Amino acid sequence: MIPSTSEAVARPLTLLSEEEEMFRATVRKFARERIGPHVRDMDEKGLFRKDIIQEFFGLGLMSVEIPEEYGGQGGSFFQAVLAVEELAAVDPSASVIVDVQNTLVNNAILRWANADQRRRYLPKLAAEWVGSYALSEAQAGSDAFALTTRGVEDGDAYVLNGRKLWITNAYEGSLYLVFANINPEAGHRGITCFLVERDMAGFAVGKKEDKLGIRASSTCELILDNVRVPKANILGEAGKGYKIAIETLNEGRVAIGGQMLGLAEGALQHAVKYAKERKQFGKTIGEFQGVQFELARMAVDVETARLLVYNAARLREAGKPFLSEAAMAKYQASQVAETVASRAVEILGGVGFTKDYPVEKLYRDAKIGRIYEGTSNIQMATIARQLIG
Ligand SMILES: Cc1cc2nc3c(=O)[nH]c(=O)nc-3n(C[C@H](O)[C@H](O)[C@H](O)COP(=O)(O)OP(=O)(O)OC[C@H]3O[C@@H](n4cnc5c(N)ncnc54)[C@H](O)[C@@H]3O)c2cc1C
Repeated sequence: MIPSTSEAVARPLTLLSEEEEMFRATVRKFARERIGPHVRDMDEKGLFRKDIIQEFFGLGLMSVEIPEEYGGQGGSFFQAVLAVEELAAVDPSASVIVDVQNTLVNNAILRWANADQRRRYLPKLAAEWVGSYALSEAQAGSDAFALTTRGVEDGDAYVLNGRKLWITNAYEGSLYLVFANINPEAGHRGITCFLVERDMAGFAVGKKEDKLGIRASSTCELILDNVRVPKANILGEAGKGYKIAIETLNEGRVAIGGQMLGLAEGALQHAVKYAKERKQFGKTIGEFQGVQFELARMAVDVETARLLVYNAARLREAGKPFLSEAAMAKYQASQVAETVASRAVEILGGVGFTKDYPVEKLYRDAKIGRIYEGTSNIQMATIARQLIG
């Protein structure tokens, strides 16, 4: 069959639909006007404002893909990535709060939860509950399935014991996707994902990390001390938690690519603005070819990141394989974020090195892109495995 003209014409990756354009404009305005004035203070305090998180809920940013029947926006994965990108241009901490909620927590529940779990948790996640995704442990980072948190069957429940480390959104959280092994002899095939509520007896949020970057985003230890979790709170099947982890992290990586893309865009915008204002030798520094070429290189870098991130997101939406593409997007975008933020600091000269201007924070924030949701080496290993098996 000959495709119709509209089907035959492939859409440029960066061309957004009208709905996507409107969504992006709304998030951009909100980020600049509402979050922008508080970024420095939240970074210094290492604490994200509760009122802004409430506004995330009000705007639907915490429930982009949750269907409307559960109080969500009924939007797309691509829109979730757009939100993460736009927020990151202003504040990568704001961005990761929304990122974890949408692309890890909501996403896993939408894909794997049964009807009862969907009814119990999706409306809360759309309206008021911040979610966390708890896989990592002290001895299980890149080797995530070496986790030692255990679940022991006891009647209609599992009793969980262990410690989780580095858990984003833990401080503000109400619901935690906790990965525990219920059958260590079966190796990773014992890993099971539990829906743990904050007020379950024996559960506690521990030490909050004091970090280099994304300081306003909370990163905490979780303590599970004989937490009795009903079997009705197993997400997906018992022993299939490894599959949930692999698949959600694959999608999460695209959005972390989006976060790093947004960060790089933010840094570039600050650099361009400054280059047009700052005068030396009787001219704006943007009139010097040396500065122009730096800005041009930064713009090329940002565009490479954008194409990889948007392509991976569109592939996911089209239901096509995107394992390598997600790893490439995260790897490249985090590299670009670091380089572009660094160059932005240099273009602003001395003031770029101070806290009076936002680029030093973006430079600090960029570092996390090469670490969480799989380090850059782990992304390379994923890409290489696809090449050589
Ligand atoms: C701010 C922050 C937020 C986080 N949020 C969450 C969260 O919400 N939920 C969650 O579960 N986890 C979270 N993490 C954990 C994060 O995913 C891990 O830190 C990350 O996977 C790396 O693990 P690790 O820190 O143990 O480093 P390690 O695995 O010890 O790695 C150390 C170094 O060794 C390298 N390395 C390790 N193995 C290999 C290999 N096979 N080949 C080549 N190089 C290798 C790594 O690339 C890295 O450079 C967060 C971490 C941070 C810092």
